[in-house]
Amino acid sequence: MNTAVLNPSKKINLLGMTLKEIEDFFASIYQKPFRAKQLIKWIHQRGVSDFNLMTDFSKELRVLLTDRCEIRSPKVSYEKISIDGTKKWIIDVGENDSVEMVLIPEGDRSTLCVSSQVGCAINCSFCATGKQGFSRNLTSDEIIGQVWIAANSFGLPRTATDRNITNVVMMGMGEPLHNFDPVVKSMDLMLDTNAYCLSKRKVTLSTSGLVPEIDKLSKVSDVSLTISLHAPNDELRNTLVPINKKYPIQELLDAVKRYVESCDDKRITTIEYILIDQVNDSLEIARELADLLMQLPCKINLIPFNSFDESDYVKPSGNRVRRFKDYLIERGYITTVRSTRGDDIMAACGQLVGQVNDKTKRKERLNRAKIEVQAI
Ligand code: SAH
Ligand code: SF4
Repeated sequence: MNTAVLNPSKKINLLGMTLKEIEDFFASIYQKPFRAKQLIKWIHQRGVSDFNLMTDFSKELRVLLTDRCEIRSPKVSYEKISIDGTKKWIIDVGENDSVEMVLIPEGDRSTLCVSSQVGCAINCSFCATGKQGFSRNLTSDEIIGQVWIAANSFGLPRTATDRNITNVVMMGMGEPLHNFDPVVKSMDLMLDTNAYCLSKRKVTLSTSGLVPEIDKLSKVSDVSLTISLHAPNDELRNTLVPINKKYPIQELLDAVKRYVESCDDKRITTIEYILIDQVNDSLEIARELADLLMQLPCKINLIPFNSFDESDYVKPSGNRVRRFKDYLIERGYITTVRSTRGDDIMAACGQLVGQVNDKTKRKERLNRAKIEVQAI
């Protein structure tokens, strides 16, 4: 339930509510359930936030909704466009916190990379977001609000047939499975035929590997799952993705297998593998990775490490990347190398930080990350 619903002194923000939640709300004001579908279409298919423009509602209903509700997205602080067309938005989510989202146009596709948390508690050693510590989870208004803002950026008024965003990946700031309910609600809206109407294969959740939450997800959703693996053995992965100490590789792969089995169609999981020079990019490691992944139908996406100020890691040479990739292909894996997009505006993978310049705040966030991660 949207927390604002429980707080009568505040206007109820309808932006992040699922169809079911809006139906319940409408029932509470004696409106028929089909009104909820109409409302969701106005919000998410047409990008409308003014109830007075909702012409298929009676005057009384429009007045009542204006009185008690709102459709409020987070504020955009500023936007940047890369020379390659990648667009990054810095989104103000209050109290000096911000998150980033990135839109990557590629031919007739447009992929939106959405944030789920302010910072991240997982603290992977190669990730700029993790280095910022953790501030808080985003609400569903703030998560789906990113999609809403990006969809509106193609121009208003939108029509119900505009489908400008073709793919959404939960790969921005944060660990989406560490913010389970708001992320699942937002993904429901992405899939909802009355809202963004994306297919489950075009909505992707990427995780560092929270095993119980993968099982929990399999009970409520069947979006595409991507695993940020980055190493073929626990010793190495422990140093890169610290949550591996709690959920080691084999437990993670077993959970992925259960997830895939729970989907009613044949799924190939994507394995994300960041390549860091001299750390996890040797041929021996490629061999170990190929052996390990034989147990799972998967394809491998290699991401050459993107640098940022506070990291000593180095991006491997093109030759080393090619060698690693060719070996995996030889072993029969569909293997791609993710092209770096938007790095001139710091919008590439792992470069999203949401700008935390205040030192005291930074310290607080690092402490919060430690507490949060212990609770996982
Ligand atoms: N927390 C989730 C989703 C966000 S991270 C996860 O870890 O999967 C999204 C992707 O960016 C992950 O695959 C992550 O490994 C990658 N990434 C993080 N830091 C990076 C960096 N410095 N260079 C390249 N990719 C990076
Ligand atoms: Fe968090 Fe993902 Fe970055 Fe790891 S890679 S710190 S899980 S955002």
